[in-house]
Amino acid sequence: MERFAAEVAENRSYLTRLDGAIGDGDHGTNMDRGMKKALERLQATDGDDIGASLKAVGMALVSSVGGAAGPLYGTFFMQMGQAAAGRSELDLAGFTDAFDAGIQGVIKRGKAEPGDKTMLDALKPALEALRDADGDDVAAALERAAQAAFDGMEATVPMVARKGRASYLGERSAGHQDPGATSSHLLLKSAAEAVGATT
Ligand code: ADP
Ligand code: MG
Repeated sequence: MERFAAEVAENRSYLTRLDGAIGDGDHGTNMDRGMKKALERLQATDGDDIGASLKAVGMALVSSVGGAAGPLYGTFFMQMGQAAAGRSELDLAGFTDAFDAGIQGVIKRGKAEPGDKTMLDALKPALEALRDADGDDVAAALERAAQAAFDGMEATVPMVARKGRASYLGERSAGHQDPGATSSHLLLKSAAEAVGATT
């Protein structure tokens, strides 16, 4: 979470510029504000309970970020937290199941599918990479998941948006990278680096 917050802060104007092209130019500022609040809440949370920590992050995002991405990322972390409730450690399978639960939350709330040019286009390939990583160590698995998220993010460039603000542009949304898929890649990159992978 600390790494993700730092990545978001560092890439704030990049994310905002991407959102400026096909949205309203607030994704970087939204996510930065939300993750700063999330870190504040984490300090007041029992760090031994992974579920409680993730839930705290999710609630901070839902309550401090307007727009689409705040509630969607908020749901992601809250659902992930629910799947990891009471756990002080997650192995790769446990992390993958929690990650999957988070993505299911995003799909349920936002009704998007892969190919709609959203954060799911980075998250879903990352999940598939984690599922395929059977037998890999955690760092290698997350490194591959981060690469899959990167490829998924780049694959949003030619897509026509079918969900969110960018969909108002129709065909004109093609040719631009999706900001939410970009922040989702940063999330996977942060997770990989946190367990010692080189990304
Ligand atoms: P807003 O669009 O309300 O200004 P943001 O700019 O913070 O919110 O976030 C935009 C991002 O949210 C998009 O780039 C996209 O990845 C993601 N998004 C929008 N709608 C959906 C949805 N229904 N499902 C999944 N992700 C979505
Ligand atoms: Mg926006």
